[in-house]
Order: sequence, then C-alpha cells, then structure tokens
Amino acid sequence: MSERGSGTTSGDLASGPIAPSPLHQLPVEFVGSFPDPLVKLDPPLPEVAFIGRSNVGKSSLFNALVGKPGLARVSGTPGKTTLLNAFRLPDFYLVDLPGYGFARAGKAARAGYRSMITRYLVERPDLAGVVWLLDIRHDPSKDDFDIQDLLVESGRPVLAALTKADKLTRTASLTRTRELAAALGLHESQVQLTSSKSRLGITELGQSILATVGGAR
Ligand code: GDP
Repeated sequence: MSERGSGTTSGDLASGPIAPSPLHQLPVEFVGSFPDPLVKLDPPLPEVAFIGRSNVGKSSLFNALVGKPGLARVSGTPGKTTLLNAFRLPDFYLVDLPGYGFARAGKAARAGYRSMITRYLVERPDLAGVVWLLDIRHDPSKDDFDIQDLLVESGRPVLAALTKADKLTRTASLTRTRELAAALGLHESQVQLTSSKSRLGITELGQSILATVGGAR
C-alpha cells in the first residue's frame, strides 16, 4: 500500500461531496470465524487484513468501507473475540483480526494472541497488505509498537488508518498525521485519515485496498 501517491492526506480534508467507498458496489459474503491463523480459505485469493487495538474503531470502519452497517459487530465489550473473521468480496478477502491491548486480558490470553497474530502476519501466503488502525488522538502504546515490529517482520505493505479523525480539527488532524507517521516510521503516504462518522478517507481507503489486491494478482 506504500504505492499510494503522496499528498492524499490534505486532499482528504478538502470539503466537497464525499464519494462512496468503491467496495460498496461489491457483494460481500461472510466466510467464517477461525481460530487457526493458517486456515486455508477456498478458493485462495489475495487478502487484506485489518488490525488494531480494541476499541480503535475497527468494526465501524470495516462496516463503513463495505457499506453494510451490521456486518462486523461494533462491540460494547472489546477484547472478547479471539477469532479471525473472513469476508469474501468476491475477488479478494478482507480479514478482520481480533483487537489487541485489551486491558483485562491475562498473560496466557496475551501470549495466545501474539502467537496467532505472528503466524498470521508472517506466514500467511496470500496476505497482500495490512490496514493498521490507530486512534488519531493517542500516542502509540507498547502494544502498538509490538505490532509494528511484527509488521516489519512480515514485510507486507502497510497502510495506517488513523481513526476517529472527526474528533479533531483539520489542523490538529494534519499535525497528528505527521507526528504519528514519524513515531511509527511510516511515510506520510502510508497514513490515511479516516472517520466512520464523517466518512472522511473511506473512499481513499477503499481505493488503496483495491490497488493492493489488484497488484497482488
Ligand atoms: P473496535 O473495538 O475496534 O471494533 O471499535 P468499534 O467500531 O466497536 O468502536 C469503538 C467505539 O468507538 C464505539 O463507541 C464507536 O461508536 C466509536 N467510534 C468508532 N468509529 C468512530 C469514529 O469514526 N468517530 C467517532 N467519533 N467515534 C467512533
């Protein structure tokens, strides 16, 4: 996803009509929930995974992207799910990975999560790219930096989606984009401002996903 052009960030914030996500036109099929990170999906197709801390706004962004409000559950009890959820669209899969950094998770649960995510990110044969969600208002946590290490190890294209951008002013959003890109060692073209509420950046994120899976074939 690093192939995205630079300068998209400020363009996202320009006022004007908001186009729907290009994924809205595609039929979406829920394939299943799986505990095994190396589960074989049939047929094998390129995959784009979504990962982020619990409560980052992953379910909301996912639903906004595919245009199906109830598809991924917007949860009141974060951290409960330890399964990956696969959706077929129909020439690629979107894979919703369980949220990390759940405060009440015990040591064993954290180790299990880490092992599952490591295997998924590093060994998954058809993983074309990863959408990494980070709340625009928060500095990266230790858990975020751990995931960053895994993303680097996996060598997959990464697009950081900064969520809940509606909570900041335009100027503050741009400043945070630069700060978070620097903190995470990402080029600004790999960082997308998003809001499920205002729909900021949803079209651009959909386009990046299509470009990523198109390039994977
Ligand atoms: P998940 O745990 O990462 O799947 O996060 P959810 O999608 O369940 O959202 C967590 C909370 O953040 C919910 O209360 C959502 O209503 C809220 N939320 C999600 N996206 C946005 C957004 O773009 N803007 C605002 N203001 N709130 C959001």
